[in-house]
Amino acid sequence: MITAGRLLIGFVLLYAIVAAGVSIVFLRKIENDARYTQEQQLPLVLSQNRNAIKVERLASLARSIYLAKDRELERQLQLQTHVLAQSFTLDENDQLAKGVQKVSSHVKQIVALRDQVRKMDAGDTSPDPAVRAELERQALETYQSAMRVTDELGQSIVSDAAVLAYGMSGDIQRTAKMIQVAWIIILTLPVLIAVGAIYVVARHIIRPINSAIEGLRSIDRHEKRRLRLRRPLFRELSTINEAIEAYGHVSLDLLRTNSILQALSEEDGLTTLANRRSFEKRIGEEFAKATQNDTDLAILMVDLDHFKSINDHYGHQMGDTCLKMTANVLRSIGAERDCHAARYGGEEFSLVFPDCDLQSAIAEAEKIRLSISSLIITSSYDETIRITASVGVATIKSGRFETAAQLLENADRALYLAKHSGRNIVKSLPLPGRADLKPLTA
Ligand code: GH3
Ligand code: MG
Ligand code: MG
Repeated sequence: MITAGRLLIGFVLLYAIVAAGVSIVFLRKIENDARYTQEQQLPLVLSQNRNAIKVERLASLARSIYLAKDRELERQLQLQTHVLAQSFTLDENDQLAKGVQKVSSHVKQIVALRDQVRKMDAGDTSPDPAVRAELERQALETYQSAMRVTDELGQSIVSDAAVLAYGMSGDIQRTAKMIQVAWIIILTLPVLIAVGAIYVVARHIIRPINSAIEGLRSIDRHEKRRLRLRRPLFRELSTINEAIEAYGHVSLDLLRTNSILQALSEEDGLTTLANRRSFEKRIGEEFAKATQNDTDLAILMVDLDHFKSINDHYGHQMGDTCLKMTANVLRSIGAERDCHAARYGGEEFSLVFPDCDLQSAIAEAEKIRLSISSLIITSSYDETIRITASVGVATIKSGRFETAAQLLENADRALYLAKHSGRNIVKSLPLPGRADLKPLTA
């Protein structure tokens, strides 16, 4: 990323230098064009302008000579015409010089014709009118020819000046166009580069950073999926992402270990039912829920009868088998109905039935008692072992219990009552203070 930043700064500097260089080149070109126009083309335009005026003046002199009646005036005008015509000989334009010479010779011819007319008029004999008219006609023709030549010269000068002006404006336009294109490129390129840079920053910096932040949040939320972050282009971000991923993996492993430990801490090792700690936590929750919703809640305490003698008679391992089979009975009841079964300790089990009144709880307890007494367990010596259980039942609404512990204690007392009533029986206690109620039996 630092290398990319350095490259970017280097590129910006280089670009600024190139843009400045290009600008200087174009400014030089404009300066040269302006100098060329000033030194070469403008004098040409001005000279064409001067020539146009001179041609106009030539035409005017020719017209004046033709119209002049006075010999002296004619001579003066002819002299002026001659001087004016001489000034064109310095001009490099051959066509113009030739045209002017032609006009000059026409002027000379007009003057000569006029001289002949004047001589005829001044003679002793009266002039022949036909000859005189012929001379006048020739003078007019020559004058008209001179006018035509001056017109043509005038037009050619104007069109030359127009071509020159067109050429000048064309040069200016070409230069302007070139500068325009160059500046469009100079200005557009940084915009395109900026767009590209924004794209690179968004894709290769902001997106990986966001993905890293999202990764950290998912670790924080204890999400149980393996963290996979996209590989960023820049090494520094890649290192950060790898560290976050490693942190995520460690965190996930810890979560898994924790959940295993949690499950183990809440499970009974022999029967895999919930243990006493988990049961007491659950009953606390269910008690709070039932109190809040004003629903009933039943607790069953199940204790195997004379279990010590089973151990003594068939061995501890057979005792374990009996405990596991009893647990299976309770587990299947739990799966059938919305209830939670646990091994409370030793050969004592407990069940919690949410939203269950005393009558239903007694019915469930009876079912459990019968199921346990129906178990047929075979010993390693092929002996059939039968077990029975006593069950104590208590529900919230069968007494006025303020805590889960009081409810549990009541169920325990009902179990005690069952034991004292001969075992293999279900018992609950009457409401405290209501002597009219006899203990309920199934
Ligand atoms: P009662 O009908 O009054 O309940 O008589 P009981 O013999 O069942 O009760 P007691 O409390 O005298 O004996 C319980 C026996 O349960 C004692 C103990 O060896 C046995 N026990 C407790 N935990 C286990 C266990 O995990 N495995 C085996 N095999 N036996 C156990
Ligand atoms: Mg027992
Ligand atoms: Mg016991």
